[in-house]
Amino acid sequence: MNLVQQSLLGLSFAEIEIALSDAGVLKHHAKALWRAVHRDHAMDLASLDLSPPLKKWVAANVGEGKPYFIDFPGQEQEIHSNDGLTRKYLLRLQDGQVIETVLMGYDGRFTACLSSQAGCAMGCVFCATGQMGFVRHLTVGEIVAQVRHVRRMLAQSHPHRRLRNIVLMGMGEPLHNYDSVMKAMDIVSDVRGASIGPSRIAISTVGFVPNILRMAEENRPYRLAVSLHGSTEEERSSLVPTSKKWNLESLIQACRNYCDTTGKRIFFEWTLIAGKNDSPETAERLVALLQGIDSHVNIIPLNPTHGFAGAASESGAEFQKIIRKSGIPCTFRQRRGIDVAAGCGMLKAGRVVLTKRP
Ligand code: SAH
Ligand code: SF4
Repeated sequence: MNLVQQSLLGLSFAEIEIALSDAGVLKHHAKALWRAVHRDHAMDLASLDLSPPLKKWVAANVGEGKPYFIDFPGQEQEIHSNDGLTRKYLLRLQDGQVIETVLMGYDGRFTACLSSQAGCAMGCVFCATGQMGFVRHLTVGEIVAQVRHVRRMLAQSHPHRRLRNIVLMGMGEPLHNYDSVMKAMDIVSDVRGASIGPSRIAISTVGFVPNILRMAEENRPYRLAVSLHGSTEEERSSLVPTSKKWNLESLIQACRNYCDTTGKRIFFEWTLIAGKNDSPETAERLVALLQGIDSHVNIIPLNPTHGFAGAASESGAEFQKIIRKSGIPCTFRQRRGIDVAAGCGMLKAGRVVLTKRP
């Protein structure tokens, strides 16, 4: 009979306690194992200075042919952007799928941009991931493994810095893979492990209405970012096909519900595309749409992707002025890693051939 192995990285703290106690190991050893896996991000648990009962448990339970394994995605490529602050990792999963994880440094603070799926089913016209189609959801272990990988790389290059922020803005639609994403974030925010503050974790959604409502109902401690991009149904659904399923009205309604239930602010992302959604009229309509919602608008200048030719707009300053005048905070997302296709919407799991070495 084939043994179905479970990822140790995908287990919650309580599940680790159960796994240990099922094997007769006292629960209090869970903390040391959790620390070894999530904080010290050890490559080889067997070589660690663990207590004798834990060592025995690891030897009997973790590894090939045993009940548990640790996701060690193979690093296919590490690409440094010429901006000096952005690195993109191409990671190969156990089944050969390749995903991308990006590490960005701002003023010595590091943010990881994680993937939640291989590909994406939402098909936004300007997004390279959307254009590659949906391959599969990532498992909890595969999402946690990206944090572990980035933390390990950071420990090598900047030993005194730690990963502070996470954004679920890599490949995929995180609210389409709700359960795995939430469990993974619960694991990486645990103070006994990677300890990323929940308010420093942002989940960005294309507008997956039922799961925005679920996030509110479950009062998840993470930040919510909503990719809006259009101020009318027509404007939005020409860019975001899923707007036909969850229309603008139901999305705004869900956002209102989210704010009322949680008391939290929503970050609205707006990929600015010349001639599509950058006019002053659109900005005015956006202001009207967001009335009564505690909002922050984040403008993302369009990054070039294969198959979408809308140029980044010159009209951003005026657009921003109109939003700000209404009292809604509005900022421009800094452009990062464009030269190595690590910017928003540019991730599509291909090797990057550099013409110029950084
Ligand atoms: N699926 C989620 C998260 C991943 S995309 C979402 O859509 O929100 C992260 C952000 O990048 C989204 O706001 C998305 O609209 C934006 N984006 C996608 N393609 C882009 C491009 N070519 N240029 C600029 N931003 C883009
Ligand atoms: Fe998917 Fe987000 Fe890209 Fe749309 S923008 S295709 S939802 S990853």
